[in-house]
Amino acid sequence: MGKLFVISGSSGVGKGTVIKEFLKKNSNYKLSVSCTTRKPRTGEEHGVNYFFLTKEDFLLKIKNDEFLEWAEFSGNMYGTQKEYVKNKLAEGKNLILEIDTQGALNVKKLMPEATLIFILPPSFEELEARLRGRHTETEEAIQKRLESTRLEMENSKKFDYQIVNDSIENAVLALEKVLL
Ligand code: 5GP
Repeated sequence: MGKLFVISGSSGVGKGTVIKEFLKKNSNYKLSVSCTTRKPRTGEEHGVNYFFLTKEDFLLKIKNDEFLEWAEFSGNMYGTQKEYVKNKLAEGKNLILEIDTQGALNVKKLMPEATLIFILPPSFEELEARLRGRHTETEEAIQKRLESTRLEMENSKKFDYQIVNDSIENAVLALEKVLL
């Protein structure tokens, strides 16, 4: 059986980059692919970054109890499929869920053996700058994301580990200490 890890962090904190660097070096770890109703960003692929679903399909999956957890975030729905997680762990893969803090705490309730890791920005100002630098969101979307940050910071206190992303190298090393 593989082990389950859940990584959360405010959007723009660079958690995606940290996880990608970690995965390059550690092939027995796999990033879970979630379902979402959000539209794909440039370069994102169905089945690779997310399973992109219509709202109807997503609601049907909720009704059929197919999600381990799901959450609404910035006006879109995101969810982790039970069957997907079960299969990957059974294959002996160590699975990393990159999900929001509400979802992470829900996973911990159902699977207490999961390890929860929160990635923090060096500062709130830094986070805002990174989010704007991405140039993929409208101002309204950015404001919504910054609001969510407050709730996420609050929830992060309940996580098993907190890692500050002051540099990618340091954050990857800190992640390796927890995961390996
Ligand atoms: P983005 O739209 O930037 O890809 O993701 C927005 C937020 O949704 C991020 O905090 C991301 O971690 C979270 N997220 C992605 N997949 C899931 C999921 O399956 N469940 C939950 N609860 N959150 C998710």
